[in-house]
Amino acid sequence: MKHIVDAVLSEDTSPQEFNSLPVPDNYRGAVVLAAESEMFAGMATRDKDPAKALHIREVPTPDIGPDEVLVAVMASSINYNTVWTSIFEPLPTFGFLQRYAATVPGAEKHDQPFHVVGSDLSGVVLRTGGAVRSVKPGDRVVAHCLNVELTHPDGHDDSMLDPEQRIWGFETNYGGLGELALVKANQLMPKPAHLTWEEAAASGLVHSTAYRQLVSANGAHMKQGDVVLIWGAAGGLGSYATQLVLNGGGIPVCVVSSPRKAELVRSMGAELVIDRSAEGLRFWSDEHTQNQREWKRFGGLVRELTGGEDPDIVFEHPGRETFGASVYVARRGGTIVTCASTSGYEHVYDNRHLWMRLKRIVGTHFANYREAWEANRLIAKGMVHPTLSTVYGLDDIGEAVSEVHANRHDGKVGVLCLAPQADLGVTDPETRERHLPQLTRFRI
Ligand code: NAP
Repeated sequence: MKHIVDAVLSEDTSPQEFNSLPVPDNYRGAVVLAAESEMFAGMATRDKDPAKALHIREVPTPDIGPDEVLVAVMASSINYNTVWTSIFEPLPTFGFLQRYAATVPGAEKHDQPFHVVGSDLSGVVLRTGGAVRSVKPGDRVVAHCLNVELTHPDGHDDSMLDPEQRIWGFETNYGGLGELALVKANQLMPKPAHLTWEEAAASGLVHSTAYRQLVSANGAHMKQGDVVLIWGAAGGLGSYATQLVLNGGGIPVCVVSSPRKAELVRSMGAELVIDRSAEGLRFWSDEHTQNQREWKRFGGLVRELTGGEDPDIVFEHPGRETFGASVYVARRGGTIVTCASTSGYEHVYDNRHLWMRLKRIVGTHFANYREAWEANRLIAKGMVHPTLSTVYGLDDIGEAVSEVHANRHDGKVGVLCLAPQADLGVTDPETRERHLPQLTRFRI
């Protein structure tokens, strides 16, 4: 790989030179193994250690289909979907790979006894398939993780509705946590020039998701002045949601679990913050019973901060532990918009609070092609900033994913893949200088 890294670092390598760089037959990637899918059987979710299941292995470089691109990955980031993959919950991902291989011509290569994970990247285009016109070798890119076929009419208003919609690196193989990655050409977007490789790789998945969830008409369609309750406001999704609400003239009410995280969201400009640990919020009295008095107390804490207003929008993802409270505290006519269930996917809420007060629950998932581009544009213009906190080497992938699983991280955790060190890849130092305080506020 050294010749590829040298070509990227030299910065004057031509597209022709990139195209003629030999592509190795194998590369190093972060994998889980089908043979180990049962390794955590019978264990509680919190006791499953991703570091035991993730390995760095040499894998064969895949063939490139007509609409595909092989990318030299300079950096990637940890997403929670890699936590799920590496603890084999709710299902091992090998079933997704087998179905993809069985249903889509050309996708047979995805069905392997290994799964290279990862749904973000920044890097440089190495090779393009015969039908690709949108990028060329040498282009500096980031990837969004929407993989679609678009052969069915359902996907043509909103590509997330394509029946063959998949998340790259989760439901497909050859993801971003490796030295090379295979993507569809339409996943690639220009790398924001003022960012380092690891900063550029931080935002794709979570920012696009938060954008659809909050801003898009496919999500909550936030408007100026909306009060938005954001769970996990210093985490991956939440740290972008907080910025989007502030940019859009909304009023974020940020929920976090430590003074340090409270400080982080304040540093982004949020004024209304609830520390759920300091408040001792517990919405379940036991495994089967929710404590409605606690919902009410939580609603009171929100009103104290907002001057008596209830949230127009609740930005949901913790799931089972918070969902009942989220439905309760949303204002009359308000929206609970959910994209996940980290603490459990069987939610319990009191439906009287939903129908009598005319609230809506909106389900949302990643982002369509256009939403992902709009989200990337905000990053490129310096209107939303990556929330990178720590950076690991590819060899330390297990530790990086375990930190996220244990909720010991802030914002986003980055991973250097081919980048030999952090802080490389900036081609617009003036813009970077202007935004430096915002770009570094999550850094530890
Ligand atoms: P993250 O970086 O771990 O952040 C999640 C935040 O949620 C944490 O910082 C934590 O904040 C808070 N949290 C965790 N458990 C909680 C609980 N029981 N009650 C209240 N708050 C809790 O993860 P993420 O990247 O934001 O992802 C969050 C979830 O969304 C994951 O399940 C992920 O798989 C899913 N997701 C789905 C999509 C999609 O397209 N559908 C996209 C991205 C992510 P505090 O401890 O500070 O409160």
